[in-house]
Amino acid sequence: MRPEASDLFVALPDDDLPAYVYDLPDLREHVRTIRAALPERVELLYAAKANSDPGILRTLAGHVHGFEVASGGELDHVRAIVPDAPIAFGGPGKTQQELTRALSAGAERLHIESEHELRLLTTLLGDRTVEVLLRVNLPVDVGRVALAMGGGPFGMDPVRLDRCLKVMESAPGVRLRGLHLHLASGLQAQSHLRLVDKILGWAEKWARDRGIDLREVNVGGGMGVDYASPPAVFDWAALGAGLRRILARHPHLTLRIEPGRSVTAYCGWYVTEVLDIKFSRGHAFAVLRG
Ligand SMILES: *Cc1c(COP(=O)(O)O)cnc(C)c1O
Repeated sequence: MRPEASDLFVALPDDDLPAYVYDLPDLREHVRTIRAALPERVELLYAAKANSDPGILRTLAGHVHGFEVASGGELDHVRAIVPDAPIAFGGPGKTQQELTRALSAGAERLHIESEHELRLLTTLLGDRTVEVLLRVNLPVDVGRVALAMGGGPFGMDPVRLDRCLKVMESAPGVRLRGLHLHLASGLQAQSHLRLVDKILGWAEKWARDRGIDLREVNVGGGMGVDYASPPAVFDWAALGAGLRRILARHPHLTLRIEPGRSVTAYCGWYVTEVLDIKFSRGHAFAVLRG
């Protein structure tokens, strides 16, 4: 924390609390460090759901390749704040209206969550073209501290992908650029690298077996933030070095990552006021404004 930050918190009027306070110069520095740690063939997107405050989006624009959004509202919001930034639209349950908005807003990528969603997209496309990633729910073991996203409503089981390929055969405007696999959350760098290695190995084989020209794989976000120990910042240098080694074995791929919390969390504070401290049955409770 910068020394002047705590002074600022104390000076905040009670009526302004609770507040999220972000150090934007610090955020700019942090995203620059992340970008510098990553190899060139890694495109960095920011997952807007982590915090889509206009000041944060504007600070990140120019240092990230683009923004990942998960709803029509988020898409409109990001478009309005950073009009020129590429947008990737992901997440299950996209409505017809949201897909139509994404097409007319010129979303750079759509992350397709199911065969149904793909079919819906083909009916809305007209003579436009759109680049898509199919989101896959690959069963992988991510270890005990991480939160696995697999096995839920996110993406498709691998066996379902062939049906999507079939649908795309008769929809030339839908261009398959690659695959999307956001499989876990809360991973430290070495576990993340093991996961990326598995994902890319699997994805390349999947594409090779089908004669598909796989150009891009998005491995999602989920870089761990240790909330109990904020100074232990996620090791981007280790991640970048490991990704460079892995990508050397995949010379034709562009890798995308879309971290959220690990980009912003270290540069902000939740500021509130302790209104009371109570003791009950051996425990102390801080009662907060909020
Ligand atoms: C939540 C989410 C992210 C960002 O996750 P973090 O843990 O905040 O990095 C990225 N991609 C998708 C698809 C998500 O749902």
